[in-house]
Amino acid sequence: MAKPSIAFLGLGIMGSGMANRLLGAGFPLAVFNRNPEKAKPLTAAGARVAATPREAADGADIIISMVADDVAARAVWKGENGALADAKKGAVLIECSTITPDWVKELGEAAARRGCALLDAPVTGTKPHAATGELSFLVGGEETALKKAQPALEAMGKTILHIGPSGSGALIKLVNNFLCAVQAVSFAEALALVEKSGLDRAKTLDLLTNGTPGSPLIKAMSARMTARDYTPNFTTRLMAKDLGYAGKEGWRYAVDLTTAACALEALKNAIAAGHGEKDFSSVVELQRKK
Ligand code: NAP
Repeated sequence: MAKPSIAFLGLGIMGSGMANRLLGAGFPLAVFNRNPEKAKPLTAAGARVAATPREAADGADIIISMVADDVAARAVWKGENGALADAKKGAVLIECSTITPDWVKELGEAAARRGCALLDAPVTGTKPHAATGELSFLVGGEETALKKAQPALEAMGKTILHIGPSGSGALIKLVNNFLCAVQAVSFAEALALVEKSGLDRAKTLDLLTNGTPGSPLIKAMSARMTARDYTPNFTTRLMAKDLGYAGKEGWRYAVDLTTAACALEALKNAIAAGHGEKDFSSVVELQRKK
């Protein structure tokens, strides 16, 4: 049976790896990126490059978005020449960006008006996992739409978790990143304390990363912050965005995410100091400089 045709919108750090996986798995693929330069490597690999999201989505069975935030997602789906304008009846839309449940609701209603189904399917994993097809998808939406999307998701991920109804994938992703950001900022403070106090750094990090606090995130932060390599896997700017979104969900349910607020302040300070486009592990540099 012929594979479904796919439109992929957003070829940033994550989207370029994910689109490459779809091409490698043999899906007919049309791609769009706001800055067309980033689409060039995918043209060479066999993708059709479209000038607008609408053109990419024309005739596609599955339309996937992997862009920065709610604003970017609104632009590619509902903006001038957005993908929804001509989306084929029966197409499955997959919003993989880390976005708010409010945006999922708005997009889901617009999709239904066109006779399309929407899945919110944000991911865990970062740049290398996107490149090697080892992402985990956190999916909200209808089982029937997920069934249609499954082969495409399997080309990009190793785990596909159906969380529940529409919006639940988006929400669980914000909870996940709230915890990751708080851990990263607390580890940055701990590391600066270790370094400035003159404790043996290697022995202390061995204890911390292999002991009770040593989560996968702490292990990754320890490696990046000690190497001082801030080539972005995930930018400080986008992690701050996720904390802002998570904080709003806290308000919605009357839960004070006080640690999220502290971590967000640290990330905002890092952005103001010029670390916004670097990996979010660069947040440690502010404490080192004090
Ligand atoms: P990125 O490299 O900064 O790419 C962002 C993408 O969004 C680019 O394609 C960019 O286009 C596009 N974009 C931004 N504003 C836009 C607008 N107004 N209109 C149209 N397109 C716009 O980000 P990323 O790291 O790939 O992350 C993408 C999404 O995945 C985000 O929601 C992020 O939170 C989430 N995520 C990231 C990671 C990670 O480790 N990096 C992990 C899990 C989830 P241009 O190239 O033209 O700027």
